[in-house]
Amino acid sequence: MADVIQVGETKVQPGERGFGYLHVGYLAGGTEVRIPYQILNGAGDGPTLCLESTMHGWEPMGAEIIRRAMLEIDPQQLNGVVMCIPLASPMTIEFGGTIESAGLRVNPVDMLDMNRVWPGKDVNAWLTEQMAHALWTNIISRCDYVVDMHDGTGSSDELPVAFPQAFPTDPALAISGELADGIGTDASDISNQITSEFLTDMKEKIREMAMAFGAPVTWWRERPINPSMLSGQCAINGIVPLVVEAGGGGMIDFTVDQGADCLLNILKHLKMIEGEPKLPERQVMVENYIVYRSLSGGFYIQAEGIKLGGMVKKGQVLGRVIDPLTSEVRETCTSPVDGLLVSRRVRMPINPGGYIAHIADFDSIIWERENG
Ligand SMILES: [Zn+2]
Repeated sequence: MADVIQVGETKVQPGERGFGYLHVGYLAGGTEVRIPYQILNGAGDGPTLCLESTMHGWEPMGAEIIRRAMLEIDPQQLNGVVMCIPLASPMTIEFGGTIESAGLRVNPVDMLDMNRVWPGKDVNAWLTEQMAHALWTNIISRCDYVVDMHDGTGSSDELPVAFPQAFPTDPALAISGELADGIGTDASDISNQITSEFLTDMKEKIREMAMAFGAPVTWWRERPINPSMLSGQCAINGIVPLVVEAGGGGMIDFTVDQGADCLLNILKHLKMIEGEPKLPERQVMVENYIVYRSLSGGFYIQAEGIKLGGMVKKGQVLGRVIDPLTSEVRETCTSPVDGLLVSRRVRMPINPGGYIAHIADFDSIIWERENG
């Protein structure tokens, strides 16, 4: 028999849904800092799944994907609990306006990236650390699984893509020594508590989650765990994390509904809801995934025939960065590999470092499947 779930002030009976805000504090002028959540308490027993988005406010599409997916769920028919944090760092979406979007990667109050401060702090703490601490203690640490959602930013559309982390299973090598900004957890303590059995088991569970998500592209990337990132902090605490990206450009297009299908695939995989997974016609897992940024600023003019989800050839022109006054071509952007265009720039003004494309290198496919 399922229990009543309480998060913050919100009590949710089995078979019901609740909404609320975690109170964190107040800004100088009295504006309340609070983080919204949605809780679905299933009538049946099952795991607790956290769906989290928008640590980075220039990537808000996950919030819409979560909203749509949760409208498909009847808590009376749900096994387990879904805890949704659609807007993990609300001020990053409320403020700012970079070349990539209206919205920031960092919290404008302290200029910190929430995805470098986990599990947060509640003493001697920056605001972003206090927010992470509130989320970690009230919601995330209670979960068995976490999906951490990002998108192509305001500059670029993007297919759903899963980024399972394939860390080394030798405890001495599994955890990254460099902790961004020196404000994350001290990794030296953690390494001693973690066994290779634990790491092997966690890695397999992450892989299963990635496969269950059912994206057209999965990037299997090998690198040590960074505990100051949410996914890394989850992994070392036995909470299975999956980082995904879906949607972008601030646009409601097919990638939003495809992303919602992918989230529901995870719930089906965990036996929280019934039904067969909805999968794209073709799925690939690659080891090499290009995140292509420009070196020049100007106006970005896409080449003809470039489509989201289309195939591109090595050397094929994706677009050009031109001088908006003289038409001089400052940079011709060509695909470095043969592969699938997972994400492409749709925004015209570009500063140096702006996103041009994400491309899954098809010469590095390590798994693929056709789904009739
Ligand atoms: Zn992000």
